[in-house]
Amino acid sequence: MADLRLHRISRHFGEVRAVDGLDLSIASGEFFVLLGPSGAGKTTTLRLVAGLEKPDAGHIAIGGHEVTALAPALRDVAFVFQQYSLYPHLSVYDNLAFPLRSPLRPLPEGQIRRKVEEVAKLLRIEDKLKQSATRLSGGQMQRVAIGRALVRSPALYLMDEPLSSLDAKLRNELRLELKRIQQDLGATMLYVTHDQIEALTMASRIGVLDAGRLVQVGTPREIYENPASAHVAARLGSPRINLLDRALMPALQAPPQAATLGIRAEHLRLHRSTGSVNNAKVKRTERLSDQHLVHVALDGSAQELVVAAPGHESYAPEEAVSLELLRPLWFGADGQRIHA
Ligand code: ATP
Repeated sequence: MADLRLHRISRHFGEVRAVDGLDLSIASGEFFVLLGPSGAGKTTTLRLVAGLEKPDAGHIAIGGHEVTALAPALRDVAFVFQQYSLYPHLSVYDNLAFPLRSPLRPLPEGQIRRKVEEVAKLLRIEDKLKQSATRLSGGQMQRVAIGRALVRSPALYLMDEPLSSLDAKLRNELRLELKRIQQDLGATMLYVTHDQIEALTMASRIGVLDAGRLVQVGTPREIYENPASAHVAARLGSPRINLLDRALMPALQAPPQAATLGIRAEHLRLHRSTGSVNNAKVKRTERLSDQHLVHVALDGSAQELVVAAPGHESYAPEEAVSLELLRPLWFGADGQRIHA
């Protein structure tokens, strides 16, 4: 396994700056998740690292070796795509063995068998090895696709939304398995997704990408608790953070340049006695397993906020309440965080 360094990497397509001066260092053994909306430049970044795309500027090093000009086959990376790309005429066994039979790195059949069986076991498809690849369920096919990356021990795994085409149950299952396998192998992983749950549960560190630029890098907790901007704050957390005009809470102390208040649902407390400030009316409640999400509208405004309330409390529509804010976050007119 190896570390990865991107130094001021750019790739433009005409007017579109798909990747724009990206600096990124990923340590050996790290599970790094690039998180961003559609068009943020996630796939282009992976393709640049794999060598499927040439940068307009910048350098890429894997394991301390400059690879910017190297052909994809010589970079020692394994790529898992969003859509499983299996050889339909081959069995599961032969699909898994395929990368090990590459003329560039030929291996004896005995060694190939051992490796294929080991990976099949890891991915819980050892009973499917003789089957044709086309006779598998979607989840099994994606396991084979991931297995084809795992049979090799490349310097780096690159994964482009490998779970996005699976149903929710399988996605949850494979998310946990992939994380476990990555830890067992001590693999270096660059994983792309727009799914915040994947990012929060799998990543050692997350890089939030927006319009080809990294807007924040940190552990899931750092990014959740200390977002650098309103954009980052809104990307992580379910329910989404409440963002509202600072003027709607005039009684709250705020830094002078604050334009927007951000407050997470779990940092709001509801009180039944209404006070002189932050009064609101309950609009509706959603029951989750151990808590309610209470939607309230601030008095004198149409602005609604979502509050995570303990499951034993119950609120009726139109009930008058007041809000206590535990950890308000402040953002300037440009969306950047302002520390109080
Ligand atoms: P998604 O989640 O939808 O896959 P992404 O974050 O992976 O999005 P990219 O596929 O990297 O985004 O695309 C970034 C930008 O570059 C987009 O605006 C896209 O249209 C553009 N782009 C990517 N590849 C090409 C190409 N070959 N030619 C022209 N424009 C491209």
